[in-house]
Amino acid sequence: MNLYMPTKVFSEHHCVSNHRDEFKMLGKKAMIVTGKHSSRNNGSLDDVKEALAKNGQEYVIFDDMEENPSVETVVKATKAAVEEGVDFFFAIGGGSPMDASKAISLLSRNPEKLDHALEFLYTFQRADYYPVVAVPTTCGTGSEVTPYSVLTIHSRRTKKSIAHRIFPEIALMDARYLKTAGRNTIVNTCVDALGHLIEAFLCTNSNEINKIYAREGLRMWGEFKESLFQNSFSDELLEKYLHTSMLAGIAIAHTSTSIPHGLSYQLTYEKNIAHGRAVGYFLPGFLRIYEDGKRVEEVLNCLGFSAKEEFQEYIEKLIGKPEVTRAEWMKNVDTMMNQPEKLKNHPFPMTRDTLCKMLTV
Ligand SMILES: [Zn+2]
Repeated sequence: MNLYMPTKVFSEHHCVSNHRDEFKMLGKKAMIVTGKHSSRNNGSLDDVKEALAKNGQEYVIFDDMEENPSVETVVKATKAAVEEGVDFFFAIGGGSPMDASKAISLLSRNPEKLDHALEFLYTFQRADYYPVVAVPTTCGTGSEVTPYSVLTIHSRRTKKSIAHRIFPEIALMDARYLKTAGRNTIVNTCVDALGHLIEAFLCTNSNEINKIYAREGLRMWGEFKESLFQNSFSDELLEKYLHTSMLAGIAIAHTSTSIPHGLSYQLTYEKNIAHGRAVGYFLPGFLRIYEDGKRVEEVLNCLGFSAKEEFQEYIEKLIGKPEVTRAEWMKNVDTMMNQPEKLKNHPFPMTRDTLCKMLTV
């Protein structure tokens, strides 16, 4: 049994300005890592800039962060951070800026490793990093409370988390920032959180502590599941989505993810399918092939479904079916069979045949 979740979490409207004292001591100059548009539209970037200015802390902005950040982009941002003398990071956005910021904080603290960045990031060793403050503006990744930093590795045509575990120092969660996210983003990210909850609950590393978070997250997800068919979302719903995503993050912080995430990365890389949606495609099949019926039943009960078929119907109604050919699917299966860490996190022997049964195409 283990529990280690060192991130300080504040969740309320205006929490960036309410808790600016918390990050006043973290450093002299921040790099704000974000995308081009959403943090400008939802007000989060202005709030962070204002709070830093009031604290008398300098900042530079790196807003060139793409979806599914690559090692190359992380290196580019690191060079800018080192040149500017940055000593802490603010990640604003979804999983992409948050995951990237963790890797940038590590590399910029160890700039001599820049020439061998890929090797350094993907080899576990003790190394210092600068503090990261995470401000999530979507409701799926949970990256604000996890130590993971999933990056795209073009040379391997896939995504993978770096070997280092870097928890953000502080997570500032203000559901107002979700207001300008479109329905697609809300649905995709909520389904990502669902994947985290189900995988955390059913994987080998699952234990009684992380199951507490997963169970409560699944129950909350079950409560709001029909609301995801709406076109607009109340403040109360956005708050629930954000909290459920955080619970799911804490649950996977202890266990990592398993088969559906392992299968999803290829789909995202090769077909440019949003991460949460790609994970969601594999969830009904995962419950179908999972060998412990009692545990699957508990997941379904928490979510308010009476049978696996009902869950499958719901997911297909929400996100549709994956558009993959048989050949693409077989390639995906082969790649998955070469991911020992994900296979190990499935508590039953996994064969190629079983993986094939997860999807009927
Ligand atoms: Zn995920």
